[in-house]
Amino acid sequence: MPYKFTLPLLDYSYDALEPYIDAQTMQIHYEKHHQTYIDELNKALEPYPSLHQKSVQDLLMSLSKLPEAIQITIRNNGGGHINHTLFWKWMKPQGGGEPRGEIGKAIKQKFESFSSFQALFSLAAKKQFGSGWAWLVINKAGDLEVISTTNQDSPLLNNIMPLLGVDVWEHAYYLKYHNKRVDYIAAWWNTINWAIIEEFYRQQA
Ligand code: MN
Repeated sequence: MPYKFTLPLLDYSYDALEPYIDAQTMQIHYEKHHQTYIDELNKALEPYPSLHQKSVQDLLMSLSKLPEAIQITIRNNGGGHINHTLFWKWMKPQGGGEPRGEIGKAIKQKFESFSSFQALFSLAAKKQFGSGWAWLVINKAGDLEVISTTNQDSPLLNNIMPLLGVDVWEHAYYLKYHNKRVDYIAAWWNTINWAIIEEFYRQQA
């Protein structure tokens, strides 16, 4: 959906991901952080009606063609909007476990086992220095790959739609996990909505 961007509805309540993600973190993360990215994105686009039909994906994929004055703002806040929109979808109550289906097969083929994929992804999330994200993507060669990005940079900046990502900004975990990012990541695996990721994978593979 193009301008004006609005908060996407959550498919679950703020406390639905307890005990892994606490209700207060969910509420602040969704109502304050995500909303702020959306507000800043809308503000930046307001003077440019010719851009109002573009989806946030299109904006990020053609960033270098946008007016220079708003490129950084779109990168950060357009990225923040799409990253969080996807992040909420990638989680659900009673999630987690091992993926089945095509994505389960593809992960085993590429990383040998689900647990070795999980270890690699968790390490990328842990090692992302400062704020950022870790991702599972299909790279340009058509292979599954684990990558990380800084700030709110989306893989879409490189024309890559992510299959799965974890927010490792402190705002995503500090209230419950304090400085223990590793504990947050370990808990987060119990929220994954593998059925949605299977859909994403089938659309792209
Ligand atoms: Mn966040």
